Amino acid sequence: MSPSSVDAVTPIRIREISTFVLDAPIAKPVRNSWRTLTSRSALLIRITDDSGAQGWGEVWCNYPPRGAHHRADLINHVAAPIITGRDFDSPQQVFSTLEKALRIPSVTAGEPGPFAQITAGIDNALWDLVAKRAGKPLWQYFGGVSRVEVYASGLSPDEPGPLAERAVKNGFRAVKLKIGVDTATDLKNSADLRTILGPSGKLMYDANQRWTVEQADQEMRRFAEFKPEWMEEPIAGDEPLSAWKTLAATSVLPLAAGENGRGRATFDGFVESGVLQYLQPDMGKWGGFTECLPLGRRAIAAGIQFCPHWLGSAIGLMSSLNLLGAAGGKGWGEFDANPNQLRERLMPDDIHVSDGFITLSNAPGIGFAPDAAVLKELTAK
Ligand SMILES: [Mg+2]
Repeated sequence: MSPSSVDAVTPIRIREISTFVLDAPIAKPVRNSWRTLTSRSALLIRITDDSGAQGWGEVWCNYPPRGAHHRADLINHVAAPIITGRDFDSPQQVFSTLEKALRIPSVTAGEPGPFAQITAGIDNALWDLVAKRAGKPLWQYFGGVSRVEVYASGLSPDEPGPLAERAVKNGFRAVKLKIGVDTATDLKNSADLRTILGPSGKLMYDANQRWTVEQADQEMRRFAEFKPEWMEEPIAGDEPLSAWKTLAATSVLPLAAGENGRGRATFDGFVESGVLQYLQPDMGKWGGFTECLPLGRRAIAAGIQFCPHWLGSAIGLMSSLNLLGAAGGKGWGEFDANPNQLRERLMPDDIHVSDGFITLSNAPGIGFAPDAAVLKELTAK
């Protein structure tokens, strides 16, 4: 029998935790309102239990450069010794054990983010492990659905047209454009993408925390004519809930955020206040399945679209899309449309998008384990 909740008893004893820091060059940098990504990195975790079963998870590590190495050190030297060789009732119990044990270290280091990220990645690996042990895909293990809607993301302000055209040709019906570098360029790109998408296609915007509340209110009015599905992170991710309430009161566009949120109280504030129409937690940054699945269900029950954020490798992408399916599928999964070896080569099969949807694999866990030779080839120097 599969548990549908994260607190069901699924005993686990961790034998080994291994980390893999990957790095892959990219031909065209990915640019947003404040930085440019010139290569892609990833931190993967492989956990082996005492029966030899294995699970894979990914830790968010897109910033700063070489941040993956630091987070790998935190796992290997701080987190792994706490949980290896001990008996736990479930991945959820591992999560709460780590949260408690890492509280003082994270305060002392002044790094609550990286500590939350490694806890999330370990959690994702453990859920992949227990679902694989049960012989079920994660979406089914949690009693969800296999068909999820996705949108193409990662479209930089520099000539996004060709990438959008390719996405539409490959089955996407929705694309998200990064804005906030230059208004004239943003408006021209918007008109071009509207033409490519047609009136029924969905256009989303990501301002990557570009504006103050006052600026955002004005700037968003420029984009209303393009009828976007949402405006993502118009203001900084660490703005208090009161700032979001001020913005939401007069916003001409539906608001999306969550990738830079951390902690249950922050997300409960978003859900209970109703300031966002789209909630976008990053399960490799905070919470893993243990926190993000109940959160997704709470959001959907409150009428909010659940849109897990992901901009990493194939491991986290499939965790994230399984999370959306597990929560019931009401929302959109983020699918980075840029060429990226860390997505394309780690998976055995291509992901097919059809009429804007993908059908998740019936294979256990996230549906695969990465190929050892590819992992070795992509290991960061
Ligand atoms: Mg974003």
